[in-house]
Amino acid sequence: MKTVMSGMRPTGRLHIGNYWGALRRWVEIQAEHRCFFMVADLHMFTTAYEESSRLQEHVREMVLDWLAAGLDPEKCVLFKQSDVPQHAELTLLLSMVTPISWLENNPTYKEQLQELGKTKLARALEGEGILTKERREAISGGQLEPVEPSSEAVRKELRTAGFLGYPVLQTADIALYGANLVPVGQDQLPHLEISREIVRRFNGLYGAVLTEPGPVLTPQAKVPGLDNRKMSKSYGNAVDLFETAAGLAPKVMSAYTDPLKARAKDPGHPEGCVVFAYHKLYSDFADRREGECRAGAIGCVACKKELLTSMEKPFSEFRERRARFDKPGLVSELLTAGGAKARAVAEETMGKVRKAMNLR
Ligand code: SF4
Repeated sequence: MKTVMSGMRPTGRLHIGNYWGALRRWVEIQAEHRCFFMVADLHMFTTAYEESSRLQEHVREMVLDWLAAGLDPEKCVLFKQSDVPQHAELTLLLSMVTPISWLENNPTYKEQLQELGKTKLARALEGEGILTKERREAISGGQLEPVEPSSEAVRKELRTAGFLGYPVLQTADIALYGANLVPVGQDQLPHLEISREIVRRFNGLYGAVLTEPGPVLTPQAKVPGLDNRKMSKSYGNAVDLFETAAGLAPKVMSAYTDPLKARAKDPGHPEGCVVFAYHKLYSDFADRREGECRAGAIGCVACKKELLTSMEKPFSEFRERRARFDKPGLVSELLTAGGAKARAVAEETMGKVRKAMNLR
């Protein structure tokens, strides 16, 4: 049996990208391995430090989603990162041995900085009445070039030590539990590679104290957002996992499709179509749909309506399960119990780390 560690930032209710990209895999592996699943509340501050007023509500919403999706506290440890102070301590110690160039060259960091910069700038300009809603949508749909986020105000706000050092915190998260398996999507592999390097460097300096983590690639890791970019709440292109039927319809009907298929009878290219990507997850006729699309045998409006029908049942089943867990105090009790278990394991690792560094 291996040890698995993973976490999610508490940004509120989960979207289908979180489910198909990670949560579904977590539910499967909780029966196979010793699993630690963490509410990564400290990580949230690396990019959204100015928006913590609803943090507790977001933690509760996300854990309810986890439970409804099938995570079982009897089979895995569910806890909140900030309930285990050893995460902060190990992050500080690991940051002492991590060269800044490793963090600056992290491709995920560069990409996130660029994407968040675009979104924040667009929102800021819209708030001032400079950018219309149509213009913002055109930017997020890729039809218009965004204003380059060269404004110092925008850059300063994102280029924090916490954001740059995100992989060090992630390394501490993993190493504290001796995790040798980390479920990741393909795009997160560079982050994990940095963690492996940091652990090797630490062990090279102080002895073989920390376990070097390895990836478990999650199938279906990429679910496109409604605008065909990566799905993210920050980009405003997400479909919530427990979306109501009324909320789902306008989102699906506005989803990005093949721009070359202007009329129903035009042949389409399903490989670049968001609606088709969702059909592959929710419809048992995706293979047939692919052929129909290519042959121009169906129009996009009809195709979207059929997708809505396919999504109806799984979404309503999720909502029913979630309602059963939604009881006062249940989430905080679970996290308190999980935090105690996690602290015991983390403190054991920190004892070894402090001794190896001659701090004790
Ligand atoms: S017919 Fe369906 S799969 Fe083909 S482009 Fe339109 S929405 Fe996408």
